[in-house]
Amino acid sequence: MGPLRAAAARGLRRGGGGGRGAAPAAPAALEGSKGSAARGGRPAPPAALHLFGDPAEVEALRGSLLAWYDECKRDLPWRALAVTEPDVNRRAYAVWVSEIMLQQTQVATVIDYYNRWMQKWPTLQALAEASLEEVNELWAGLGYYSRGKRLQEAARKVVSELAGQMPRTAEDLQKLLPGVGRYTAGAIASISYGQATGVVDGNVIRVLCRMRCIGADSSSPPVIDRLWAMANALVDRSRPGDFNQALMELGATVCTPKAPLCGECPVKQHCRARLRVEKELALASQKLLGKLPVVPDVEDCGVGGCPLCPPAAEPWDSSLGVTNFPRKAAKKQPRVEQTATCVLERRGRRGALEYLIVQRPSSGLLAGLWEFPSVPLAPGLQQEQQREVLVDHLQAWTGQPVAAGSLRFIGEVVHVFSHIHQTYVVYSLSLDGDVTLDLASSPSRWVTEEEFRASAVSTAMKKVLRACERQHGEESGPAKGSKRKRGAKPGAAGSTRPGTQLSLRTFLRAPNPP
Ligand code: SF4
Repeated sequence: MGPLRAAAARGLRRGGGGGRGAAPAAPAALEGSKGSAARGGRPAPPAALHLFGDPAEVEALRGSLLAWYDECKRDLPWRALAVTEPDVNRRAYAVWVSEIMLQQTQVATVIDYYNRWMQKWPTLQALAEASLEEVNELWAGLGYYSRGKRLQEAARKVVSELAGQMPRTAEDLQKLLPGVGRYTAGAIASISYGQATGVVDGNVIRVLCRMRCIGADSSSPPVIDRLWAMANALVDRSRPGDFNQALMELGATVCTPKAPLCGECPVKQHCRARLRVEKELALASQKLLGKLPVVPDVEDCGVGGCPLCPPAAEPWDSSLGVTNFPRKAAKKQPRVEQTATCVLERRGRRGALEYLIVQRPSSGLLAGLWEFPSVPLAPGLQQEQQREVLVDHLQAWTGQPVAAGSLRFIGEVVHVFSHIHQTYVVYSLSLDGDVTLDLASSPSRWVTEEEFRASAVSTAMKKVLRACERQHGEESGPAKGSKRKRGAKPGAAGSTRPGTQLSLRTFLRAPNPP
């Protein structure tokens, strides 16, 4: 195994450090870009430093990159289907599914989901007939659940409105299919149809910014526009799909976010970031030898106020080398939220423990997924106030009084969504009977642990259940240091002893503690 293949075999994310891309610009942002020179007036032509202006160099770059890809590309199931599937609609569908799954998700994670998905729904028609519940069940754990939902909606549209025929160009794919943005359209069209159109994802941004010393905020419109123009100009006319995949593969396995393997890079001779580094090193060694009095600053492109150069306030940092590029936008902090969650459990007819889960609304975060009864908490509430909020929620849900002391505090479970830092304040409650629930707004059902894991539940809820099971395990085992952070102790007044169940009567009638 050569060094390049070894790098590929490490199974780095397709996107480098953050899903598809350690993405200086998130795929969603790229998908949302409609292309764009139309914004504002006509931009000034970029300086030569930022251009691929020499046709001979472009040809050489294409050749080197494709030769490397042919030798080093990872064997991935969607790549095999894109080559072997003779039916063009099936081929486009196979690529489409992979592209949607790979957004913000590691290649290694996607492979298993992809194989199961294609086995269950090998065609658009099969997917169009599936229920959202089935889609969510298969997607459970992959995150960003709206992706699966929109994929299915788009499949239904192709079947019902387009006679089962996938749109045949990137422009039509983007225009006609919900959830298909500029990047996904370009990927499907180039890989499945051989359309000579470029793609820009987090990996491509990184590689191109380094190759052409683009140090301005890589999520800004002028930079994104320039990168799309560059990708469209560079793409190999005879092998566009392979070229696009090669560029992304290079970013995922060689030109990585933090530790690029420049010495092994097949396009290093075309990389101006690397050239800068080499020049700096040469000047530094000359200075050490007393041949030059001063090491000059690394020059920018020479155009004052260039929208592609690093801002004057953030000059080149020699210690970063090529990773000076690209420059990321300041990351938006996720908002902090808290939710009170209650794991309601009972012994089922065959003695197995069962949990009550309710379905979330069909739109919004985690749409249509199942969860333990939960209620958002206002910031700054004390523990008892949080408990009361949960009690109120359960009472409204059951239409019966609920004793606050019957809820057993389990702990806090943190789950970070893309834009929300969510803390679940987890309680449990054991029942020895059923409760009559208001099903009008929240469908609910009892499930065994096995059924819970096979249901369309989020990773966060799986963490909640694990915390609950861990707590039960600690309480039923020999006394060890508890990781409980706060709240009622087992056996304390109003709490449920381990292994005992609260009667439905007690659950509904016990008076609230003072
Ligand atoms: Fe990336 Fe280094 Fe290759 Fe330039 S030489 S493209 S920085 S890996």
